[in-house]
Amino acid sequence: MSDTAPARQFADLGLPAHLLEALNSLGYETPSPIQAEAIPTLLAGKDLLGLAQTGTGKTAAFALPVLAGIDVSLRATQALILTPTRELALQVAEAFQRYAQNMRGFTVLALYGGSAFAPQFKALERGAHVVVATPGRLTDHLRRGSLKLQDLRYLALDEADEMLKMGFADDLEAVFEEVPDTTQKALFSATMPPGVRNVARNHMKEPAEIRLHSGASSSLETITQKVWEVSNHHKLDAMTRLLEVEPVEAMIVFVRTKTASLELAERLEARGFAAAALNGDLTQQLREQVVDRLKRGLLDIVVATDVAARGLDVERITHVLNYDLPHDSESYVHRIGRTGRAGRQGTAILFATPRERRLLHVLERATGQKIEPQALPTADAVRSGRLNKLASRLNDAREQATSLHQQLVSDLQELTSLDATELAAALLTLLPSAKTLLEPVADLPSAPPRREREFDRDSGLTRYKVQGGRKTGLMPKPLVDVLVKVGGLQRQQIGHIKLFNEHTGVFLPTLDQAVINRLAGAEINGVTLQIKAWPLPEGELPPRDRAPRGKPPRREYAGKPKGPRKA
Ligand code: AMP
Repeated sequence: MSDTAPARQFADLGLPAHLLEALNSLGYETPSPIQAEAIPTLLAGKDLLGLAQTGTGKTAAFALPVLAGIDVSLRATQALILTPTRELALQVAEAFQRYAQNMRGFTVLALYGGSAFAPQFKALERGAHVVVATPGRLTDHLRRGSLKLQDLRYLALDEADEMLKMGFADDLEAVFEEVPDTTQKALFSATMPPGVRNVARNHMKEPAEIRLHSGASSSLETITQKVWEVSNHHKLDAMTRLLEVEPVEAMIVFVRTKTASLELAERLEARGFAAAALNGDLTQQLREQVVDRLKRGLLDIVVATDVAARGLDVERITHVLNYDLPHDSESYVHRIGRTGRAGRQGTAILFATPRERRLLHVLERATGQKIEPQALPTADAVRSGRLNKLASRLNDAREQATSLHQQLVSDLQELTSLDATELAAALLTLLPSAKTLLEPVADLPSAPPRREREFDRDSGLTRYKVQGGRKTGLMPKPLVDVLVKVGGLQRQQIGHIKLFNEHTGVFLPTLDQAVINRLAGAEINGVTLQIKAWPLPEGELPPRDRAPRGKPPRREYAGKPKGPRKA
Protein backbone atom coordinates (compact mmCIF):
# COMPACT_ATOMS: atom_id res chain seq x y z
CA MET A 1 0.00 0.00 0.00
CA SER A 2 1.44 3.34 -0.94
CA ASP A 3 1.03 6.43 1.17
CA THR A 4 -1.91 7.56 -0.88
CA ALA A 5 -3.69 4.31 -1.83
CA PRO A 6 -7.42 4.62 -1.19
CA ALA A 7 -8.55 2.53 1.75
CA ARG A 8 -11.27 -0.05 1.31
CA GLN A 9 -14.54 1.09 2.86
CA PHE A 10 -16.92 -0.92 5.04
CA ALA A 11 -19.67 -0.02 2.58
CA ASP A 12 -17.80 -1.92 -0.17
CA LEU A 13 -17.79 -5.20 1.69
CA GLY A 14 -21.43 -6.21 1.21
CA LEU A 15 -22.64 -5.69 4.78
CA PRO A 16 -26.28 -4.71 5.43
CA ALA A 17 -27.09 -1.09 6.25
CA HIS A 18 -27.91 -1.67 9.92
CA LEU A 19 -24.42 -3.03 10.53
CA LEU A 20 -22.81 -0.14 8.65
CA GLU A 21 -24.78 2.22 10.87
CA ALA A 22 -23.63 0.41 13.98
CA LEU A 23 -20.00 0.63 12.83
CA ASN A 24 -20.41 4.30 12.15
CA SER A 25 -21.89 4.93 15.56
CA LEU A 26 -18.95 3.04 17.10
CA GLY A 27 -16.64 5.37 15.22
CA TYR A 28 -15.00 2.73 13.04
CA GLU A 29 -13.65 4.44 9.99
CA THR A 30 -12.27 1.78 7.69
CA PRO A 31 -12.03 -1.99 7.83
CA SER A 32 -8.79 -3.40 9.16
CA PRO A 33 -6.92 -5.57 6.61
CA ILE A 34 -8.24 -8.80 8.07
CA GLN A 35 -11.77 -7.42 7.98
CA ALA A 36 -11.43 -6.25 4.38
CA GLU A 37 -10.48 -9.78 3.36
CA ALA A 38 -12.52 -11.95 5.70
CA ILE A 39 -15.89 -10.20 5.54
CA PRO A 40 -16.55 -10.65 1.77
CA THR A 41 -15.24 -14.23 1.95
CA LEU A 42 -17.55 -15.17 4.80
CA LEU A 43 -20.49 -13.32 3.26
CA ALA A 44 -19.93 -15.42 0.12
CA GLY A 45 -20.46 -18.52 2.24
CA LYS A 46 -16.90 -19.83 2.13
CA ASP A 47 -15.05 -21.47 5.00
CA LEU A 48 -12.14 -19.44 6.23
CA LEU A 49 -8.78 -20.02 7.84
CA GLY A 50 -7.34 -16.80 9.22
CA LEU A 51 -3.89 -16.27 10.66
CA ALA A 52 -4.45 -13.29 12.91
CA GLN A 53 -3.51 -12.04 16.34
CA THR A 54 -5.43 -10.06 18.91
CA GLY A 55 -5.66 -6.42 17.95
CA THR A 56 -6.06 -7.06 14.23
CA GLY A 57 -9.83 -6.61 14.42
CA LYS A 58 -10.50 -10.31 13.96
CA THR A 59 -13.57 -10.31 16.21
CA ALA A 60 -15.47 -7.98 13.90
CA ALA A 61 -14.08 -9.94 10.93
CA PHE A 62 -16.24 -12.90 11.88
CA ALA A 63 -18.95 -11.23 13.99
CA LEU A 64 -20.16 -8.89 11.22
CA PRO A 65 -20.77 -11.54 8.53
CA VAL A 66 -22.34 -13.81 11.15
CA LEU A 67 -24.73 -11.05 12.19
CA ALA A 68 -25.55 -10.36 8.55
CA GLY A 69 -26.86 -13.91 8.29
CA ILE A 70 -28.78 -14.19 11.58
CA ASP A 71 -32.54 -14.50 11.34
CA VAL A 72 -33.73 -12.77 14.51
CA SER A 73 -37.27 -14.12 14.13
CA LEU A 74 -35.92 -17.67 14.46
CA ARG A 75 -35.36 -18.32 18.17
CA ALA A 76 -32.62 -20.87 17.70
CA THR A 77 -28.86 -20.83 18.09
CA GLN A 78 -27.59 -19.99 14.64
CA ALA A 79 -23.98 -19.19 15.43
CA LEU A 80 -21.51 -20.68 17.83
CA ILE A 81 -18.18 -19.06 18.68
CA LEU A 82 -15.55 -20.96 20.63
CA THR A 83 -12.92 -19.13 22.64
CA PRO A 84 -10.21 -20.45 24.97
CA THR A 85 -11.02 -18.34 28.02
CA ARG A 86 -13.89 -16.89 29.93
CA GLU A 87 -12.67 -13.33 29.52
CA LEU A 88 -12.36 -13.68 25.78
CA ALA A 89 -15.86 -15.23 25.64
CA LEU A 90 -17.24 -12.18 27.45
CA GLN A 91 -15.33 -9.79 25.24
CA VAL A 92 -16.57 -11.46 22.06
CA ALA A 93 -20.15 -11.56 23.35
CA GLU A 94 -19.96 -7.85 24.15
CA ALA A 95 -18.59 -7.14 20.68
CA PHE A 96 -21.58 -8.97 19.17
CA GLN A 97 -23.90 -6.89 21.30
CA ARG A 98 -22.31 -3.67 20.11
CA TYR A 99 -22.41 -4.60 16.44
CA ALA A 100 -26.02 -5.84 16.77
CA GLN A 101 -27.22 -2.59 18.36
CA ASN A 102 -29.76 -2.10 15.54
CA MET A 103 -31.07 -5.68 15.54
CA ARG A 104 -34.17 -5.69 17.72
CA GLY A 105 -34.63 -8.85 19.74
CA PHE A 106 -31.12 -10.13 19.06
CA THR A 107 -29.57 -12.15 21.88
CA VAL A 108 -26.07 -13.41 22.51
CA LEU A 109 -25.06 -15.63 25.40
CA ALA A 110 -21.62 -16.36 26.86
CA LEU A 111 -21.15 -19.82 28.38
CA TYR A 112 -17.99 -20.56 30.33
CA GLY A 113 -16.75 -22.92 32.97
CA GLY A 114 -16.33 -22.12 36.61
CA SER A 115 -19.79 -20.65 36.99
CA ALA A 116 -23.14 -22.21 37.92
CA PHE A 117 -25.11 -24.22 35.39
CA ALA A 118 -28.60 -23.21 36.50
CA PRO A 119 -28.58 -19.66 35.08
CA GLN A 120 -27.00 -20.97 31.89
CA PHE A 121 -29.81 -23.55 31.50
CA LYS A 122 -32.39 -20.82 31.98
CA ALA A 123 -30.74 -18.53 29.47
CA LEU A 124 -30.48 -21.35 26.94
CA GLU A 125 -34.16 -22.15 27.42
CA ARG A 126 -35.01 -18.56 26.60
CA GLY A 127 -32.88 -18.99 23.49
CA ALA A 128 -29.82 -17.16 22.14
CA HIS A 129 -29.14 -16.45 18.49
CA VAL A 130 -25.40 -16.49 19.10
CA VAL A 131 -23.60 -18.52 21.74
CA VAL A 132 -20.01 -17.71 22.66
CA ALA A 133 -18.51 -20.50 24.73
CA THR A 134 -15.38 -22.08 26.10
CA PRO A 135 -15.03 -25.63 24.75
CA GLY A 136 -15.28 -27.57 28.02
CA ARG A 137 -18.46 -25.92 29.20
CA LEU A 138 -19.93 -26.15 25.72
CA THR A 139 -19.50 -29.92 25.47
CA ASP A 140 -21.05 -30.23 28.95
CA HIS A 141 -24.14 -28.49 27.61
CA LEU A 142 -24.18 -30.60 24.47
CA ARG A 143 -24.00 -33.76 26.57
CA ARG A 144 -26.84 -32.59 28.78
CA GLY A 145 -28.93 -31.64 25.78
CA SER A 146 -29.35 -28.09 27.04
CA LEU A 147 -27.96 -26.64 23.80
CA LYS A 148 -29.18 -27.80 20.41
CA LEU A 149 -27.24 -27.12 17.27
CA GLN A 150 -29.54 -28.33 14.51
CA ASP A 151 -30.11 -24.79 13.21
CA LEU A 152 -26.47 -23.78 13.40
CA ARG A 153 -25.34 -21.81 10.35
CA TYR A 154 -21.95 -20.58 11.57
CA LEU A 155 -19.19 -22.00 13.70
CA ALA A 156 -16.15 -19.84 14.48
CA LEU A 157 -13.06 -20.84 16.45
CA ASP A 158 -11.22 -17.92 17.97
CA GLU A 159 -7.59 -18.40 19.08
CA ALA A 160 -7.70 -22.02 17.94
CA ASP A 161 -4.02 -22.56 18.77
CA GLU A 162 -4.67 -21.54 22.38
CA MET A 163 -7.60 -23.93 22.67
CA LEU A 164 -5.46 -26.81 21.45
CA LYS A 165 -2.62 -25.83 23.77
CA MET A 166 -5.06 -25.94 26.66
CA GLY A 167 -5.99 -29.51 25.84
CA PHE A 168 -9.39 -28.90 24.28
CA ALA A 169 -8.72 -31.02 21.16
CA ASP A 170 -11.31 -33.65 22.11
CA ASP A 171 -13.92 -31.06 22.97
CA LEU A 172 -13.40 -29.39 19.61
CA GLU A 173 -13.79 -32.73 17.83
CA ALA A 174 -17.01 -33.34 19.75
CA VAL A 175 -18.38 -29.97 18.64
CA PHE A 176 -17.49 -30.57 14.99
CA GLU A 177 -19.31 -33.94 15.21
CA GLU A 178 -22.41 -32.21 16.48
CA VAL A 179 -22.81 -29.38 13.96
CA PRO A 180 -24.80 -29.84 10.74
CA ASP A 181 -22.82 -30.45 7.55
CA THR A 182 -24.11 -27.21 6.12
CA THR A 183 -22.55 -25.09 8.87
CA GLN A 184 -20.10 -22.50 7.55
CA LYS A 185 -16.83 -22.54 9.47
CA ALA A 186 -14.20 -19.98 10.29
CA LEU A 187 -11.04 -20.61 12.25
CA PHE A 188 -8.74 -17.90 13.57
CA SER A 189 -5.39 -18.56 15.09
CA ALA A 190 -2.30 -16.52 15.87
CA THR A 191 -0.06 -19.41 14.82
CA MET A 192 -0.57 -22.40 12.53
CA PRO A 193 0.89 -25.44 14.29
CA PRO A 194 0.11 -28.88 12.78
CA GLY A 195 -2.76 -29.43 15.24
CA VAL A 196 -4.59 -26.38 13.94
CA ARG A 197 -3.88 -27.39 10.32
CA ASN A 198 -5.35 -30.83 11.05
CA VAL A 199 -8.54 -29.40 12.46
CA ALA A 200 -8.88 -27.26 9.34
CA ARG A 201 -8.12 -30.17 7.00
CA ASN A 202 -10.50 -32.58 8.70
CA HIS A 203 -13.44 -30.29 9.23
CA MET A 204 -13.42 -27.43 6.78
CA LYS A 205 -14.32 -27.31 3.11
CA GLU A 206 -11.49 -25.84 1.02
CA PRO A 207 -11.13 -22.89 3.35
CA ALA A 208 -9.94 -19.58 1.96
CA GLU A 209 -6.70 -18.69 3.72
CA ILE A 210 -5.96 -15.22 4.95
CA ARG A 211 -2.71 -14.20 6.46
CA LEU A 212 -1.63 -10.70 7.15
CA HIS A 213 1.62 -10.08 5.36
CA SER A 214 3.95 -7.99 7.44
CA GLY A 215 4.72 -4.70 5.82
CA ALA A 216 8.01 -4.18 4.06
CA SER A 217 10.37 -2.17 6.20
CA SER A 218 10.95 1.24 4.75
CA SER A 219 13.86 3.47 5.59
CA LEU A 220 13.31 4.15 9.25
CA GLU A 221 16.89 4.86 10.28
CA THR A 222 16.03 8.33 11.51
CA ILE A 223 13.40 7.02 13.94
CA THR A 224 13.90 5.73 17.48
CA GLN A 225 11.16 3.45 18.74
CA LYS A 226 10.15 3.05 22.36
CA VAL A 227 7.37 1.27 24.18
CA TRP A 228 5.65 2.36 27.37
CA GLU A 229 3.64 -0.26 29.14
CA VAL A 230 0.44 1.43 30.22
CA SER A 231 -2.99 0.06 31.06
CA ASN A 232 -5.92 1.57 29.18
CA HIS A 233 -7.01 3.47 32.29
CA HIS A 234 -3.80 5.44 32.49
CA LYS A 235 -3.10 6.30 28.88
CA LEU A 236 -4.19 9.92 29.16
CA ASP A 237 -2.11 10.52 32.28
CA ALA A 238 0.84 8.77 30.71
CA MET A 239 0.51 10.97 27.65
CA THR A 240 0.45 14.15 29.70
CA ARG A 241 3.55 12.97 31.46
CA LEU A 242 5.19 12.12 28.17
CA LEU A 243 4.63 15.68 27.04
CA GLU A 244 6.39 16.92 30.17
CA VAL A 245 9.52 14.85 29.85
CA GLU A 246 10.02 14.40 26.09
CA PRO A 247 11.35 17.28 24.01
CA VAL A 248 8.22 17.38 21.85
CA GLU A 249 7.95 20.06 19.21
CA ALA A 250 4.95 18.60 17.40
CA MET A 251 3.33 15.24 17.74
CA ILE A 252 0.90 13.00 15.88
CA VAL A 253 -1.13 10.75 18.14
CA PHE A 254 -2.76 7.71 16.56
CA VAL A 255 -5.99 6.24 17.87
CA ARG A 256 -8.30 3.60 16.43
CA THR A 257 -11.58 5.38 15.94
CA LYS A 258 -12.93 8.72 14.79
CA THR A 259 -14.72 9.02 18.11
CA ALA A 260 -11.52 8.43 20.03
CA SER A 261 -9.71 11.08 17.98
CA LEU A 262 -12.36 13.68 18.85
CA GLU A 263 -12.53 12.74 22.50
CA LEU A 264 -8.80 12.70 23.06
CA ALA A 265 -8.27 15.99 21.21
CA GLU A 266 -10.95 17.58 23.40
CA ARG A 267 -9.42 16.25 26.60
CA LEU A 268 -5.99 17.50 25.58
CA GLU A 269 -7.39 20.90 24.76
CA ALA A 270 -9.06 20.95 28.15
CA ARG A 271 -5.64 20.34 29.66
CA GLY A 272 -4.27 23.33 27.86
CA PHE A 273 -2.55 21.72 24.87
CA ALA A 274 -2.85 23.09 21.34
CA ALA A 275 -4.48 19.95 19.98
CA ALA A 276 -6.96 19.04 17.24
CA ALA A 277 -8.50 15.92 15.74
CA LEU A 278 -7.82 14.73 12.21
CA ASN A 279 -10.18 12.04 10.98
CA GLY A 280 -12.14 10.88 7.97
CA ASP A 281 -15.27 12.75 9.06
CA LEU A 282 -13.61 16.08 8.34
CA THR A 283 -13.99 17.53 4.87
CA GLN A 284 -10.87 17.69 2.75
CA GLN A 285 -10.76 21.43 3.35
CA LEU A 286 -10.88 21.07 7.14
CA ARG A 287 -8.22 18.40 7.05
CA GLU A 288 -5.96 20.68 5.08
CA GLN A 289 -6.57 23.42 7.60
CA VAL A 290 -5.52 21.18 10.48
CA VAL A 291 -2.34 20.16 8.68
CA ASP A 292 -1.60 23.76 7.80
CA ARG A 293 -2.02 24.88 11.41
CA LEU A 294 0.30 22.10 12.49
CA LYS A 295 2.90 23.22 9.95
CA ARG A 296 2.70 26.82 11.11
CA GLY A 297 3.06 25.92 14.77
CA LEU A 298 -0.47 26.96 15.71
CA LEU A 299 -1.11 23.36 16.70
CA ASP A 300 1.34 21.04 18.46
CA ILE A 301 -0.68 17.86 18.75
CA VAL A 302 -2.87 16.22 16.14
CA VAL A 303 -4.92 13.20 17.17
CA ALA A 304 -5.43 11.19 14.02
CA THR A 305 -6.89 8.03 12.63
CA ASP A 306 -4.81 6.03 10.15
CA VAL A 307 -6.78 7.05 7.09
CA ALA A 308 -6.74 10.76 7.77
CA ALA A 309 -3.01 10.89 8.47
CA ARG A 310 -1.93 8.93 5.42
CA GLY A 311 0.82 10.71 3.56
CA LEU A 312 1.08 13.51 6.11
CA ASP A 313 4.42 15.27 5.68
CA VAL A 314 5.26 17.88 8.30
CA GLU A 315 8.87 18.44 9.25
CA ARG A 316 8.01 19.77 12.71
CA ILE A 317 6.73 16.40 13.84
CA THR A 318 9.33 15.19 16.34
CA HIS A 319 7.13 12.48 17.86
CA VAL A 320 4.58 9.89 16.85
CA LEU A 321 2.55 8.38 19.63
CA ASN A 322 0.71 5.11 19.06
CA TYR A 323 -1.89 5.75 21.75
CA ASP A 324 -3.71 2.67 20.48
CA LEU A 325 -1.83 -0.04 18.64
CA PRO A 326 -2.50 -0.25 14.91
CA HIS A 327 -4.27 -3.25 13.42
CA ASP A 328 -1.28 -4.44 11.44
CA SER A 329 2.40 -3.81 11.06
CA GLU A 330 1.95 -2.10 7.73
CA SER A 331 -0.12 0.65 9.35
CA TYR A 332 2.49 0.88 12.08
CA VAL A 333 5.22 1.51 9.54
CA HIS A 334 3.09 4.20 7.88
CA ARG A 335 2.32 5.80 11.21
CA ILE A 336 5.84 6.11 12.51
CA GLY A 337 7.04 7.31 9.11
CA ARG A 338 5.24 10.60 9.88
CA THR A 339 8.25 11.61 11.94
CA GLY A 340 11.96 11.65 11.16
CA ARG A 341 11.23 13.47 7.89
CA ALA A 342 13.65 15.56 5.88
CA GLY A 343 16.62 13.97 7.59
CA ARG A 344 15.56 15.04 11.09
CA GLN A 345 15.51 12.65 14.01
CA GLY A 346 12.14 11.38 15.17
CA THR A 347 10.82 9.39 18.08
CA ALA A 348 8.00 6.88 17.89
CA ILE A 349 6.46 5.87 21.18
CA LEU A 350 3.82 3.24 21.59
CA PHE A 351 1.54 2.52 24.49
CA ALA A 352 1.03 -1.18 24.94
CA THR A 353 -1.11 -2.91 27.52
CA PRO A 354 0.46 -6.06 28.99
CA ARG A 355 -1.72 -8.17 26.76
CA GLU A 356 -0.34 -6.43 23.71
CA ARG A 357 3.24 -7.02 24.75
CA ARG A 358 3.53 -10.13 22.60
CA LEU A 359 2.60 -8.16 19.50
CA LEU A 360 5.76 -6.10 19.79
CA HIS A 361 8.02 -8.61 18.10
CA VAL A 362 5.81 -8.44 15.01
CA LEU A 363 6.39 -4.69 14.85
CA GLU A 364 10.08 -5.16 15.53
CA ARG A 365 10.29 -7.55 12.62
CA ALA A 366 8.38 -5.22 10.33
CA THR A 367 10.64 -2.29 11.14
CA GLY A 368 13.85 -4.27 11.50
CA GLN A 369 14.55 -2.44 14.75
CA LYS A 370 14.30 -3.09 18.41
CA ILE A 371 11.52 -1.32 20.27
CA GLU A 372 13.05 -0.38 23.58
CA PRO A 373 10.89 -0.64 26.68
CA GLN A 374 10.98 2.53 28.73
CA ALA A 375 9.93 2.94 32.33
CA LEU A 376 7.19 5.49 32.93
CA PRO A 377 8.71 8.75 34.15
CA THR A 378 8.59 8.92 37.91
CA ALA A 379 7.06 11.78 39.83
CA ASP A 380 10.61 13.03 40.51
CA ALA A 381 11.48 13.03 36.82
CA VAL A 382 8.36 15.05 36.09
CA ARG A 383 9.15 17.56 38.82
CA SER A 384 12.71 18.05 37.69
CA GLY A 385 11.54 18.22 34.06
CA ARG A 386 9.23 21.10 34.99
CA LEU A 387 11.94 22.83 36.99
CA ASN A 388 14.46 22.49 34.15
CA LYS A 389 12.01 23.94 31.68
CA LEU A 390 11.40 26.97 33.85
CA ALA A 391 15.11 27.36 34.52
CA SER A 392 15.86 27.42 30.83
CA ARG A 393 13.08 29.94 30.22
CA LEU A 394 14.55 32.13 32.95
CA ASN A 395 17.99 31.90 31.37
CA ASP A 396 16.54 32.96 28.03
CA ALA A 397 14.62 35.77 29.70
CA ARG A 398 17.70 37.04 31.46
CA GLU A 399 19.18 38.01 28.14
CA GLN A 400 16.14 40.11 27.41
CA ALA A 401 15.98 41.76 30.81
CA THR A 402 17.33 45.31 30.55
CA SER A 403 18.50 47.84 33.11
CA LEU A 404 14.92 49.09 33.12
CA HIS A 405 13.75 45.73 34.48
CA GLN A 406 16.44 45.89 37.14
CA GLN A 407 15.33 49.37 38.04
CA LEU A 408 11.78 48.08 38.33
CA VAL A 409 12.92 45.40 40.78
CA SER A 410 14.62 47.88 43.10
CA ASP A 411 11.54 50.14 42.96
CA LEU A 412 9.37 47.17 43.87
CA GLN A 413 11.68 46.18 46.71
CA GLU A 414 11.49 49.63 48.11
CA LEU A 415 7.71 49.78 47.81
CA THR A 416 7.11 46.34 49.30
CA SER A 417 10.09 46.15 51.68
CA LEU A 418 10.66 42.56 50.53
CA ASP A 419 14.10 41.05 50.12
CA ALA A 420 15.11 39.58 46.75
CA THR A 421 14.04 35.99 47.53
CA GLU A 422 10.69 37.09 48.92
CA LEU A 423 10.07 39.28 45.92
CA ALA A 424 11.01 36.52 43.43
CA ALA A 425 8.78 34.04 45.29
CA ALA A 426 5.87 36.47 45.12
CA LEU A 427 6.46 37.03 41.42
CA LEU A 428 6.46 33.27 40.85
CA THR A 429 2.93 33.02 42.21
CA LEU A 430 1.86 35.32 39.37
CA LEU A 431 3.40 33.09 36.75
CA PRO A 432 0.89 30.47 35.55
CA SER A 433 3.53 27.94 34.46
CA ALA A 434 5.19 28.10 37.88
CA LYS A 435 1.99 26.92 39.55
CA THR A 436 2.47 23.38 38.24
CA LEU A 437 5.78 23.24 40.10
CA LEU A 438 3.95 23.21 43.38
CA GLU A 439 1.31 20.71 42.34
CA PRO A 440 1.74 17.27 43.81
CA VAL A 441 2.82 14.71 41.23
CA ALA A 442 1.82 11.12 41.84
CA ASP A 443 3.77 8.16 40.56
CA LEU A 444 1.89 6.61 37.68
CA PRO A 445 1.19 2.94 38.29
CA SER A 446 2.83 0.87 35.62
CA ALA A 447 0.48 -1.65 34.06
CA PRO A 448 -0.28 -4.57 36.34
CA PRO A 449 0.84 -8.04 35.31
CA ARG A 450 -1.27 -9.80 32.72
CA ARG A 451 -3.28 -11.88 35.14
CA GLU A 452 -4.76 -8.83 36.80
CA ARG A 453 -4.96 -6.70 33.74
CA GLU A 454 -8.48 -7.31 32.56
CA PHE A 455 -9.57 -6.87 36.12
CA ASP A 456 -7.53 -3.79 36.79
CA ARG A 457 -10.06 -1.87 38.71
CA ASP A 458 -8.15 -0.94 41.81
CA SER A 459 -6.86 2.22 40.41
CA GLY A 460 -8.88 4.97 38.89
CA LEU A 461 -12.25 3.62 40.00
CA THR A 462 -14.88 5.88 41.45
CA ARG A 463 -17.48 4.78 43.96
CA TYR A 464 -21.12 5.31 42.95
CA LYS A 465 -24.21 5.03 45.10
CA VAL A 466 -27.26 3.28 43.69
CA GLN A 467 -30.64 3.62 45.36
CA GLY A 468 -31.96 0.24 46.53
CA GLY A 469 -30.23 -2.58 48.36
CA ARG A 470 -30.70 -5.86 50.19
CA LYS A 471 -34.05 -4.88 51.70
CA THR A 472 -35.50 -3.72 48.41
CA GLY A 473 -34.36 -6.84 46.60
CA LEU A 474 -31.72 -5.26 44.39
CA MET A 475 -29.35 -7.92 43.05
CA PRO A 476 -25.88 -7.36 41.58
CA LYS A 477 -26.61 -9.23 38.35
CA PRO A 478 -29.44 -7.01 37.00
CA LEU A 479 -27.42 -3.98 38.10
CA VAL A 480 -24.41 -5.19 36.12
CA ASP A 481 -26.66 -5.92 33.13
CA VAL A 482 -27.98 -2.36 33.12
CA LEU A 483 -24.50 -0.90 33.52
CA VAL A 484 -23.39 -2.92 30.50
CA LYS A 485 -26.44 -2.55 28.28
CA VAL A 486 -27.48 1.01 29.06
CA GLY A 487 -24.25 2.46 30.40
CA GLY A 488 -22.12 0.88 27.69
CA LEU A 489 -19.59 -0.34 30.27
CA GLN A 490 -17.71 -3.54 29.75
CA ARG A 491 -18.33 -6.19 32.35
CA GLN A 492 -14.63 -6.27 33.21
CA GLN A 493 -14.65 -2.57 34.04
CA ILE A 494 -17.17 -3.00 36.83
CA GLY A 495 -15.55 -3.17 40.22
CA HIS A 496 -16.64 -4.33 43.62
CA ILE A 497 -20.36 -4.14 44.44
CA LYS A 498 -21.47 -3.85 48.06
CA LEU A 499 -25.12 -4.18 49.03
CA PHE A 500 -26.43 -2.28 52.03
CA ASN A 501 -30.03 -2.39 53.23
CA GLU A 502 -31.38 0.56 51.29
CA HIS A 503 -28.58 1.36 48.89
CA THR A 504 -25.67 -0.20 47.05
CA GLY A 505 -22.09 0.91 46.43
CA VAL A 506 -20.42 0.06 43.14
CA PHE A 507 -16.93 0.91 41.89
CA LEU A 508 -16.82 2.06 38.28
CA PRO A 509 -14.53 3.99 35.97
CA THR A 510 -15.43 7.66 36.27
CA LEU A 511 -18.61 8.09 34.26
CA ASP A 512 -19.36 10.99 31.94
CA GLN A 513 -22.45 12.98 32.84
CA ALA A 514 -24.09 11.74 29.62
CA VAL A 515 -23.70 8.15 30.81
CA ILE A 516 -25.08 8.98 34.25
CA ASN A 517 -28.08 10.63 32.62
CA ARG A 518 -28.64 7.60 30.42
CA LEU A 519 -28.39 5.26 33.39
CA ALA A 520 -30.76 7.40 35.42
CA GLY A 521 -33.50 6.66 32.89
CA ALA A 522 -33.02 2.89 33.10
CA GLU A 523 -35.11 0.47 35.12
CA ILE A 524 -34.24 -2.52 37.25
CA ASN A 525 -37.21 -4.76 38.08
CA GLY A 526 -39.54 -1.90 37.21
CA VAL A 527 -37.81 0.60 39.49
CA THR A 528 -36.08 3.62 37.96
CA LEU A 529 -32.38 3.56 38.65
CA GLN A 530 -30.88 6.36 40.73
CA ILE A 531 -27.12 6.64 40.64
CA LYS A 532 -24.67 9.29 41.78
CA ALA A 533 -21.01 9.60 42.65
CA TRP A 534 -20.26 8.62 46.25
CA PRO A 535 -16.71 9.72 47.01
CA LEU A 536 -14.74 7.62 49.43
CA PRO A 537 -13.62 9.28 52.67
CA GLU A 538 -10.17 10.85 52.33
CA GLY A 539 -7.42 8.28 52.41
CA GLU A 540 -9.64 5.25 51.94
CA LEU A 541 -8.84 3.08 48.97
CA PRO A 542 -11.27 1.05 46.90
CA PRO A 543 -11.27 -2.65 47.78
CA ARG A 544 -8.22 -4.16 46.19
CA ASP A 545 -8.04 -7.73 47.15
CA ARG A 546 -11.39 -8.88 45.86
CA ALA A 547 -12.04 -9.77 42.28
CA PRO A 548 -15.18 -7.78 41.83
CA ARG A 549 -17.11 -9.44 39.00
CA GLY A 550 -17.17 -13.04 40.07
CA LYS A 551 -13.88 -14.87 40.05
CA PRO A 552 -10.62 -13.59 38.66
CA PRO A 553 -9.95 -14.51 35.07
CA ARG A 554 -8.70 -17.99 34.76
CA ARG A 555 -8.30 -20.60 32.19
CA GLU A 556 -10.91 -23.30 32.39
CA TYR A 557 -8.28 -25.88 33.11
CA ALA A 558 -7.21 -24.09 36.26
CA GLY A 559 -10.10 -25.74 38.06
CA LYS A 560 -10.48 -29.38 38.92
CA PRO A 561 -10.32 -31.41 35.72
CA LYS A 562 -13.76 -32.75 34.88
CA GLY A 563 -12.49 -35.75 33.04
CA PRO A 564 -9.56 -37.07 31.11
CA ARG A 565 -8.40 -34.64 28.52
CA LYS A 566 -5.65 -35.17 26.04
CA ALA A 567 -3.05 -32.48 26.00
P1 AMP B 1 -9.73 -7.50 18.10
O1 AMP B 1 -8.49 -7.78 17.29
O2 AMP B 1 -10.93 -8.13 17.50
O3 AMP B 1 -9.53 -7.86 19.55
O4 AMP B 1 -10.02 -5.93 18.04
C1 AMP B 1 -9.15 -4.99 18.60
C2 AMP B 1 -9.82 -3.65 18.87
O5 AMP B 1 -10.00 -2.91 17.67
C3 AMP B 1 -11.19 -3.71 19.52
O6 AMP B 1 -11.21 -2.74 20.53
C4 AMP B 1 -12.17 -3.33 18.42
O7 AMP B 1 -13.29 -2.69 18.95
C5 AMP B 1 -11.33 -2.39 17.58
N1 AMP B 1 -11.67 -2.43 16.15
C6 AMP B 1 -11.92 -3.53 15.41
N2 AMP B 1 -12.12 -3.20 14.12
C7 AMP B 1 -11.97 -1.86 14.02
C8 AMP B 1 -12.02 -0.92 12.94
N3 AMP B 1 -12.26 -1.31 11.69
N4 AMP B 1 -11.81 0.37 13.22
C9 AMP B 1 -11.54 0.77 14.48
N5 AMP B 1 -11.48 -0.06 15.55
C10 AMP B 1 -11.68 -1.36 15.33
